[in-house]
Amino acid sequence: MLKIGLTGGIGSGKTTVTQLFAALNVPIIDADELAHQLVAVGQPALKRIQTEFGAAVINADGSLNRKEMRERIFSDAAAKNTLEVILHPLIYAAIQAKINQLTAAYCIICVPLLFETQMTAIADRILIIDCPVGQQIERVKLRDQLTREKIQAIIDSQISRENRLSKADDIINNSATDADLGQQVKALHHLYISLSTL
Ligand code: ATP
Repeated sequence: MLKIGLTGGIGSGKTTVTQLFAALNVPIIDADELAHQLVAVGQPALKRIQTEFGAAVINADGSLNRKEMRERIFSDAAAKNTLEVILHPLIYAAIQAKINQLTAAYCIICVPLLFETQMTAIADRILIIDCPVGQQIERVKLRDQLTREKIQAIIDSQISRENRLSKADDIINNSATDADLGQQVKALHHLYISLSTL
């Protein structure tokens, strides 16, 4: 099965494009969703996080306090690294386990931080969802009510647009309309089926 690693900056349109592939019955593996499941209440990873970071990152109901965790890692590179050492191997293994369950010509593995987390080896081909940085900011502002500065800080913490694009096998240009997006997805769908060895 051909494994397509789908990535792109914040607000570039990864979820939007992934939904279009899903509508074509392409199996989707979502790294963020797996990461959420890995830190659910009672999971070993959550216990390790509590041991490393203390009770302050755990809510009263035993779940992960995401806001507190985000703040810790945003301002502290060592804390970020500690969290990544716990989570990244588990996410990688969870993706691999999902791949092993699938029978399809190809699958889409959506990994927002594919390059930043050095997970490129999980995919045979890399598909970048791309739009200008200004458009990323406008879309996220509309969706999340974050300030321009906060969104820019997140963009600055990610690989640059130029660097990301230089690593692409395929690119979806999401600076245009949704209809155009559907056509680009269809063209890639045919390409991936033709490249697949099943
Ligand atoms: P994140 O990295 O934050 O998870 P994402 O890359 O998954 O974001 P989406 O959630 O798909 O991006 O898109 C970001 C926002 O922009 C959403 O509100 C979405 O509806 C909107 N959007 C995406 N593509 C388009 C488009 N072509 N035209 C108009 N709005 C769009």
